[in-house]
Amino acid sequence: MGDGGSFRKILVVAELKGDAIHPVTLELLGKGREIVEHIGGEVCSVVFGCNVNKTKASELIEYGADKVFLFNDPVFSGLNTMVYAHNLVKLCKEEKPDIVLLGATCFGRSLGPRVAAALKTGLTADCIDLRMDEKGELIQIRPAFVGNILAHIKTRTKPVMSTVRYKVMRARDRDKGRSGLIVEKNAEAPPYGSIRLVGGAIPKKLNIADAEIIVSGGRGLGSPEGFRLLEELASLLGGVVGSSRPPVDDGWIRKEHQVGYSGSIVKPRLYFACGISGSPQHLFGMKDAETIVAINSDPSAPIFRVADYGIVGDLYQVIPLLIKEIKARRGIKC
Ligand SMILES: Cc1cc2nc3c(=O)[nH]c(=O)nc-3n(C[C@H](O)[C@H](O)[C@H](O)COP(=O)(O)OP(=O)(O)OC[C@H]3O[C@@H](n4cnc5c(N)ncnc54)[C@H](O)[C@@H]3O)c2cc1C
Repeated sequence: MGDGGSFRKILVVAELKGDAIHPVTLELLGKGREIVEHIGGEVCSVVFGCNVNKTKASELIEYGADKVFLFNDPVFSGLNTMVYAHNLVKLCKEEKPDIVLLGATCFGRSLGPRVAAALKTGLTADCIDLRMDEKGELIQIRPAFVGNILAHIKTRTKPVMSTVRYKVMRARDRDKGRSGLIVEKNAEAPPYGSIRLVGGAIPKKLNIADAEIIVSGGRGLGSPEGFRLLEELASLLGGVVGSSRPPVDDGWIRKEHQVGYSGSIVKPRLYFACGISGSPQHLFGMKDAETIVAINSDPSAPIFRVADYGIVGDLYQVIPLLIKEIKARRGIKC
């Protein structure tokens, strides 16, 4: 892999979500461009699939890649990480990227460590930012000690590998006039084959990370029934229901609703925090919402420090009033 402080080649591992490119890939391409604009070099991307064509590769170029390695082969029809890892390791040995970036998704979290181990290099997981220092070395920033500090990590081995959380970076606008090189590659099945896929998991119905409006509830709901009230408000607003961690731990609501450090990071236009105190771990996941409305009976709750609108009161009195008002304005009978 390349030596010295200055990076020249960044490889973004693209992830497909059905037929579409996962937005975290586009965010990583945006960050890749930012880095090469700072120190020079090129942004490459690699995409694996059994039905992936040049149009998909061109899309990666339009979002910032200079070169795309395209693996289109039936060997990728099952989601067998070993197959992806084998081909990615081989590509890294041939192309010698200085930095390899993956989304901190199930795909990236499963693939990244296998590739790092095979390449005998380090991997920093769950980064929330990447910066270059004055020597042109990559600083990987990730929360540590439950999000109370932000660790700045440098990797001494090459390639520097990071998985990066979804929604912490910004994708560039698509530039349909952008040109780049598409390199078609032959895939290989790994020589070992001890994994047999017996079926796929049922995809999650809720995609809270992409929701525009979220009505979240916390321990202050007092019981699982409280979520029914939140569901009513959320459906009137065209949003989804979120949660802090305690209701999830208590089995009131499924984990996929959890917002925060050990849940999802969200960036909705509107976020309601109902009966949520505003712990650092919860704020970690929602502080970048465009507008935050907090409903809490305790005027000193920390959530009010980040809220754009704060309502001090019992949520069981406040939310029914909001619902009544929305229905009245829309001419819906109560
Ligand atoms: C490693 C680790 C990871 C974590 N990850 C997460 C995470 O991803 N997400 C997360 O949320 N937490 C996470 N936590 C937990 C976190 O530290 C807090 O414990 C949690 O966020 C508190 O949840 P809460 O605000 O719902 O409950 P509380 O802190 O108990 O707050 C309840 C609030 O409800 C208010 N209230 C009570 N009754 C009413 C009422 N009737 N009307 C209005 N307000 C009322 C109270 O005034 C209070 O402010 C994590 C912790 C650890 C150690």
